[in-house]
Amino acid sequence: MKFSLPVVVSIFATCMPCVADASTCYGTVGKGRLSGGVQLPPQGVNFAAYSSTGVEMGRTYVHDQVRQVMLEAYANVRTTLPDRTYVYGETGLAHGGPIPPHRTHQAGLSVDFMVPVLDDADRSVPMPSSPANKFGYALEFDDQGRIPGYRIDFDAMAEQLYQISMTSRRYGLTIARVIFDPRLAERLFNSSRHGAELQRILPFMKERPWIRHDEHYHVDFGLSCRPLRDYHG
Ligand SMILES: [Zn+2]
Repeated sequence: MKFSLPVVVSIFATCMPCVADASTCYGTVGKGRLSGGVQLPPQGVNFAAYSSTGVEMGRTYVHDQVRQVMLEAYANVRTTLPDRTYVYGETGLAHGGPIPPHRTHQAGLSVDFMVPVLDDADRSVPMPSSPANKFGYALEFDDQGRIPGYRIDFDAMAEQLYQISMTSRRYGLTIARVIFDPRLAERLFNSSRHGAELQRILPFMKERPWIRHDEHYHVDFGLSCRPLRDYHG
């Protein structure tokens, strides 16, 4: 078959970015690697990274399908809950592999989402983040989801998880695991926005996690990765 020049140009124009962006995961989230990883944008209209230092240190890379899901989910939430703001936490390194202190996050498929919060004036605000509170990770929410001056916005959290779940399917990903403090998860399931549905459709880890997961919820996206032995840097 012979292509005319405009057709060839248009094929390249369409496909070159896909080739450049294609990510491949190897192994598992607990022992894995990533090639062609992409960094999440440090901020968008209704979201931001947990720490500019973390971004500069390259701790916010993911598989490109994960990035597409996250960005589309944030865009969808802008439609359903336009006044809410979100913060994402650590994800992984550009080439995956160990990223202490996390036990997983090795294949570009793990994302920590910091809980969305409301302040005392009921405004949706970014979770307070500074080196003193380990960029949010050292905050301790009580069993009702409160810290002084802030409380978890369970409706905003449920809406985001719902959008992530729906969007994942469109991009060929599953949700393999969600880790969140079981007592706070009960409040999430009582949320008016898809709470009961989330309990049914998402695989929340039942066992007690090794760290409490009250200030963030961890999501492992599911994708069949290539064997780790196929990774050659
Ligand atoms: Zn995590």
